[in-house]
Amino acid sequence: MSYDLVIRNAALALGSDEGVDISVSKGVIRSIGISEAAGTLEVDAQGALVTPGGVDPHCHMAQISSTGVPTADDINSGTVSAVNGGTTTVAAFAVQHRGDEVRDVAAAMIARVASEAVTDVALHMILTELGSTIDDDLEWLIDHGITSLKIFTTYDRLRLAPEAVIGAIAAAGKSDMQVMIHAEHDGMITDGRAQAIPAGLRDARGHQMSHTRQAERAGVAEALAIGEYADVPIYLVHVSTSGSLDEIRSARSRGVRVTVETCPHYLWLDESLLAGDLPSTAAFMSSPPLRGAHDRAALWAGLADGDIDIVASDHAPYRMDGGKLPDGADTVFTGVANGMPGVEMRMPLMMSAVAEGRLSLNRVLELCCSNPAESLGIAPNKGRLEVGSDADLVIWDVGSEREVRHSALHDQVDYTPYEGVPVMAWPDTVIYRGRVVGPDPVPGSGRFLKRTVA
Ligand SMILES: [Zn+2]
Repeated sequence: MSYDLVIRNAALALGSDEGVDISVSKGVIRSIGISEAAGTLEVDAQGALVTPGGVDPHCHMAQISSTGVPTADDINSGTVSAVNGGTTTVAAFAVQHRGDEVRDVAAAMIARVASEAVTDVALHMILTELGSTIDDDLEWLIDHGITSLKIFTTYDRLRLAPEAVIGAIAAAGKSDMQVMIHAEHDGMITDGRAQAIPAGLRDARGHQMSHTRQAERAGVAEALAIGEYADVPIYLVHVSTSGSLDEIRSARSRGVRVTVETCPHYLWLDESLLAGDLPSTAAFMSSPPLRGAHDRAALWAGLADGDIDIVASDHAPYRMDGGKLPDGADTVFTGVANGMPGVEMRMPLMMSAVAEGRLSLNRVLELCCSNPAESLGIAPNKGRLEVGSDADLVIWDVGSEREVRHSALHDQVDYTPYEGVPVMAWPDTVIYRGRVVGPDPVPGSGRFLKRTVA
């Protein structure tokens, strides 16, 4: 018996001195333990920590923002960035802009993934209107491996009308599709904007004043109530406040089914980064905006105690010199393309949280690998280091401190919001479907992940 690949002397826990061999053939893990059999390729992990590849269920690539700006990353550069950060599966979005046929945009994105990707890519479908063919459209999506929807409750270009929100959730439920919700209260946001501009708040403070903690909490409460009303499980993206977690705990206690996501920027970056003029703060503008110490502490607690299920990057890459500030220094906050790049930093940051003792390794692997795989319906092939799972693996360099530099990253953006942030973990070697990923992965060497409903 021989294998395509054997990783020797891998540690499966931090600081473990018991090395094991991970043997792989045809892209799948065949044995974990001491292996006498040779591999065509042998990689000595030298006692380094080996984990499953990351699964990032929320990445914007090859997409147009809510302000009409294309993302700097396409599927190729976005997945190159992902894999260099230890993430081997991402989920991106096909977007039905108003007037688009759902099937056309979905088919076009599937084709782009097949020709450009260097990792596995699943797709969610963003719906911005509910046509009369919705049930047939959803059936078509499921037949073609797209089993989840995303809907927005705010942003004029993206949001569904209130009755369409309920209709989309109910239709998704009927088809056993998952429904992801960007939950912020549109009325409060509109009111905040109407107050901010006359008050002279044209910069990030205006954005904060409109995307308040209350607006998120109200949006979350409403989404939970609609999920309860329609009896359909929902997925809340980028939860950023302690008040939202209160609503979630309360809803769960009465049986509401909800999956809860947060993102590294709400954990690592503080709202104080939003003080200053737009050119110096736009890099840190996202929706919802960064929050303060109280919310960040609540999110860290939520990761540890299970209130939060998933850490996703919400990779939203817009260049400072191309679209993030469409009118340069004269841009008003409502014109900023919100979002930050982060697909390459999510795993190193979260593994640093392990190295620093903030979270256990098992918990981080749940948050970043197995729970997102479960939620996408691609477990146990993805997100687990087990016999029978795909050989998507990361050999980590843990324990040596380095500072994040954008020049070392692989996205097409011109900054990272984590510039200078110290990290204690970095991927040394990444293995995708049993192959060691080299410096120039071939476009199209990744795969579209055709999913099925449970
Ligand atoms: Zn997003």
